[in-house]
Amino acid sequence: MATVVATNQTILVVGGGVSGMTAALEAAECGKQVVLVENTATLGGRTANLYRYFPKLCHPTCGLEINLRRLKGNRNVRVLTLAEVTAVAGTRGDFTVTVRRSPRYVNENCTACGACAEAVSAEVPNPWNYGLDKLKAAYLPHAMAYPQRYVLDPSIIGTPDAEKAKAACKYGAIDLDMKEETLELKVGAIVWATGWRPYDAARIQPYGYGRFPNVITSVEFERLADPHGPTGGKILRPSDGKEARSIAFIQCAGSRDENHLRHCSRICCMASLKQTQYVREAFGEEAQSTVYYIDIRAIDRFEDFYARVQRDPTVKFVKSKVARIAEDQTTRDPILHGVDTEGYHRYANRHDLVVLAIGMEPSVKGVDIPAEVVADSSGFIEAAADGAAVFGAGCATNALDVNRSVQNATAAALRAIQVVNRAARAES
Ligand SMILES: Cc1cc2nc3c(=O)[nH]c(=O)nc-3n(C[C@H](O)[C@H](O)[C@H](O)COP(=O)(O)OP(=O)(O)OC[C@H]3O[C@@H](n4cnc5c(N)ncnc54)[C@H](O)[C@@H]3O)c2cc1C
Repeated sequence: MATVVATNQTILVVGGGVSGMTAALEAAECGKQVVLVENTATLGGRTANLYRYFPKLCHPTCGLEINLRRLKGNRNVRVLTLAEVTAVAGTRGDFTVTVRRSPRYVNENCTACGACAEAVSAEVPNPWNYGLDKLKAAYLPHAMAYPQRYVLDPSIIGTPDAEKAKAACKYGAIDLDMKEETLELKVGAIVWATGWRPYDAARIQPYGYGRFPNVITSVEFERLADPHGPTGGKILRPSDGKEARSIAFIQCAGSRDENHLRHCSRICCMASLKQTQYVREAFGEEAQSTVYYIDIRAIDRFEDFYARVQRDPTVKFVKSKVARIAEDQTTRDPILHGVDTEGYHRYANRHDLVVLAIGMEPSVKGVDIPAEVVADSSGFIEAAADGAAVFGAGCATNALDVNRSVQNATAAALRAIQVVNRAARAES
């Protein structure tokens, strides 16, 4: 069993995306002991698998690398991956937390050489690419994964593939006897930074996601444009592998809709504007992006980016809530039906590919959070009251861009530090 030393002056951070990493690092760099619990096999969260960041269009690897360097240089943070908090008991300054940790089947001897992946033949859907392709059942989650260590998919445990992986490893890093373990930790304050998940697009029935292969979501499009993605960065149609030059971006797919998500996901307008530039990057003047929108929400410094995209002749804007999508059964082209509210024209527009700017919902929605937090009607964690010791951070509290997530997480770290400082004073 892993040993983790924690006291009532330790801060627990749940969720290892940019917000959780920020909260953990800010607290650790103030000298606090931190345990960072992440339920996947790597830190980084959903930002790490974006192709580029708006508004500067830089690569997210940059920010991730800076945070990983800070983390590696700080002994105050203990990272637990493949781990989940299952229970929280106690009160402010004195919590006992139960953490369940799933086996990775790979220990710290791993050098990430990849021999295990070469040895196994089973493949599993690639979670990093939202299942758009497959990878070997012994895998490194992604090039910048932290820890830089392979994982064996549980589906091969007990099969000859697992033995082959073990035999191929020269470093004794494959441990097929690893078991699920339960840890109990004492902590004084908790930061809940569990982020967001894409709304289930299949529930927006008129848009045909899941039925029409050339209707995909904005998170999938990020992977399609990325050179490390399933198509090596080529923007190709799932149905036939042809280049998708004419792309429709449908805004508010699930958001601002009483039948789906009531809230505005805030990020989607900027994400689609950014993604039109991926299309331009791929096809130059031959790119044809059409953004179907209700209104574009681009505030503060994002407005300049919006203005820049508006000047791009490859991008067209149609003010309309798309009513439904049909499919040409021969070509598999999606055909969008609706009314352009600026001229009140009915349209039936054909495109190569449709990208749904899918809404963001909190990961904690519908999940029994084992800690006393108050959620709003959309499931986001509300600001903690005076005297609280459990704080939301980043997209667990609202649909935020990275910059605002980082600010929000820094504030949560500060409040957590105040709690454990008080606990320390009470003891002395
Ligand atoms: C299509 C799209 C494009 C975007 N592009 C940009 C952009 O260009 N620029 C920008 O600034 N923002 C962009 N964003 C927003 C950006 O993704 C968020 O700001 C960012 O992900 C917030 O980070 P976070 O750490 O709060 O959440 P997340 O990234 O969701 O991280 C949460 C972490 O918590 C973990 N977790 C979840 N539940 C648990 C649990 N129960 N226990 C333990 N761990 C858990 C998750 O595995 C994850 O690692 C985009 C969003 C979308 C939808």
